[in-house]
Amino acid sequence: MNTKEIMQIFEDNAYVRTGGSDQELRCAEYIREKCAQMGLKAQITPFPVDMATIQAAVLTVDGQEIPCKGYLCAGSGEVTAPFYYLRDTSPASLPQCKGKIVMIDGYLGYWKYRDLLENGAVGFVTYDGNINYADEDIDQRELRSYVSKGEKIPGVNINAKFAMELIRKGSKTATISLKQDEYVGESRNVILDMPGETEEYIILTAHYDSTSLSQGAYDNMTGAVGLLGIAESFVGKSHRYGLRFIWCGSEERGLLGAKAYCQDEEALKKVVLNINLDMIGCIMGNFIAVCSTEEALTHYIQYMGLEMGLGIRVSQDVYSSDSTPFADKGVPAVSFARISPPNTGTIHNRYDTMALVSGEQMAADIDFLVAFTQRMANAVCCPVKRVIPDSVKEKLDIYLCRKRDKNG
Ligand SMILES: [Zn+2]
Repeated sequence: MNTKEIMQIFEDNAYVRTGGSDQELRCAEYIREKCAQMGLKAQITPFPVDMATIQAAVLTVDGQEIPCKGYLCAGSGEVTAPFYYLRDTSPASLPQCKGKIVMIDGYLGYWKYRDLLENGAVGFVTYDGNINYADEDIDQRELRSYVSKGEKIPGVNINAKFAMELIRKGSKTATISLKQDEYVGESRNVILDMPGETEEYIILTAHYDSTSLSQGAYDNMTGAVGLLGIAESFVGKSHRYGLRFIWCGSEERGLLGAKAYCQDEEALKKVVLNINLDMIGCIMGNFIAVCSTEEALTHYIQYMGLEMGLGIRVSQDVYSSDSTPFADKGVPAVSFARISPPNTGTIHNRYDTMALVSGEQMAADIDFLVAFTQRMANAVCCPVKRVIPDSVKEKLDIYLCRKRDKNG
């Protein structure tokens, strides 16, 4: 793909495509068609996801209605209670949640939600956006099933500007009214096989869904295009290890596509490596590789970067992306990304558009990724040992909420 063809793909997919939506399906079909144009046959593989349609979501604080979006899959009902802003999770603050509608900073993760439930909160408010942005956008959030575990209290998301105003004014009483239909829908992975000479294979992943306000150009049409570029480089060439490309659905909803795929543990036994792309090709920023496997791979990638003249910051860690369910099932995994400084590119909002991306940087990043994949695919013996060290396992436990991080 040349830079013009690369940028055309961003133009063709400049729309919101949340996991499980018709737009996500439209993008899946687009990717399948792109593969077909290279003479490759990809398949759309559906998997079930929780869905909801909000009928009404109202937040009233001291008689004033605050613009909000209701949390999907957080049940229906109405609750009125004192309003409380939980600034931290210290023993001084947590008990004050009792019987209140509680506003928190940041994402509502598993442990924060447990804190709210255990301390008797009756509703919750989160906020996103930025007080310095011109917009008053509100992201559409959901109460993920692995967070709620069936225990639901109503919640809404608001814009940071209003959140700050509520605290400035010393708000006293809030009412949340939420009404929604919850049901099971469908998201999809797009899977392309390029068999090798052996039974064993490498899985390459990149998600193609976006969050509710975002065209997801940088996060992660860039990675989706990266996989197309890698696939193209193998067309008509034989290679030792097989390659399976998976454009994952519903990553933004909690890595759901990768998790659904990784349920088949028997099939994963033949997988020697997972190479994941999540956010590459941005105009500004540095290239990173995060290895969820033995330390040796970090050195290998570092050396390759030096050899090819590409600066790479390599770490042994867990990356918040589709590589993680693979690593968790024992498959050595590496995620590649180019990380934009936040003042030149942010994600999960309306500002993540193709304006953040350059065809030239995409081509340069893909060149490196092709070289790395070619080496792994043609290795006489895949050099990455099938090992997940204890230090990485510990990080997986924390990331996947089986264990609580000391810091919260
Ligand atoms: Zn992403």
